[in-house]
Formats: sequence, C-alpha cells, structure tokens
Amino acid sequence: MEKKALINIDYTFDFVADAGALTCGGPGQAIEGKIVQLTRGFIEDGDYVVFAIDVHDEGDSFHPETKLFPPHNIRGTSGRELFGELEALYEKNKARENVHFMDKTRYSAFAGTDLEIKLRERGITELHLVGVCTDICVLHTAVDAYNKGFKIVIHKEAVASFNQKGHEWALGHFEQSLGALVK
Ligand code: ZN
Repeated sequence: MEKKALINIDYTFDFVADAGALTCGGPGQAIEGKIVQLTRGFIEDGDYVVFAIDVHDEGDSFHPETKLFPPHNIRGTSGRELFGELEALYEKNKARENVHFMDKTRYSAFAGTDLEIKLRERGITELHLVGVCTDICVLHTAVDAYNKGFKIVIHKEAVASFNQKGHEWALGHFEQSLGALVK
C-alpha cells in the first residue's frame, strides 16, 4: 500500500475570509468543513499532514508576486493564520510528530523548500492535495509532484478558487495530464 501524505495548501485568512487580502471568497469558505474533516482523518490515522503556507515580506521588490498581487500572507500577521476551524484543529495537534507546518514563498509547495526531503525520508509516495486556489498553488504543487513521480489525489470538494473556470480547467488537467485521481 502506498504511504500517503496530506498537503494542506494556503487555507488562510487572507486567501479565504471575506476580509482577506487576496481572497477566494465564498467558494473558499464553502470547503471549510471538508478540509477540516479530511485533515482530522489524516492526523488521526497517523498519516503525514503538511500545512504548506505562503509567506511574504512586505514590499519585497525581488519577489515576482509583488507586481501581480496586493500584499498577502505577510510574515507575522493574522492574515497568515489558518482559516476557521482548521486553525483550532492545527493548534490542538501541532505537537504531533505527523503534523508539520512549513513556509513556502512560491505557488508550488516544492519550490525552494525541503518538502521533497521530508516526504522521501518518510517513504511517502502518494500525495493528497487540498486547499486554495485550485488553479494556482494547488495546480503548481501538483505539477511538481507529478514531475517528481508522486501519485496524486485531488479532493475536489476540498479545493476552491475565486475563478470557477480556472477551477474546472484545473480539475480536468489534474486527471487528464497529471494522472491524478480526482475524487
Ligand atoms: Zn503569495
């Protein structure tokens, strides 16, 4: 049996709350229950759960997103806190050995991070992706996972985007081009 991990991507106040700096809004809020349920299940089963969370330094003139988006997920701000009940679930379980919070600075959770090393040393071969946005950070993480040879499972009721067309396109791409199981 494949050893699996849950990669929980960018489900923070800034990306999900109505008052968030770069929010998905309603579609992001609608997946809260499913994300929490899946995350709790993986934690309780002893599977590896990674919170891969965007971080930026305000006014970073070298970062490509500075030109593309308003400031978001700034280091040390409440905008970076996990959204809704996911925050409480993380706080309650963060001391567990199978729960890992990591910073990422690009769309992909693999870009410039030690995520691949963490997964390989645990013998993990199958990645389950949840979070936002389906067609940006979830997509880029899935593309890297595909190129590195991981099996991919996308939980379609636990990913969302501000862009419904982009969301639907990405779900098709996961299945047809990345060989993912979309369920
Ligand atoms: Zn960002």
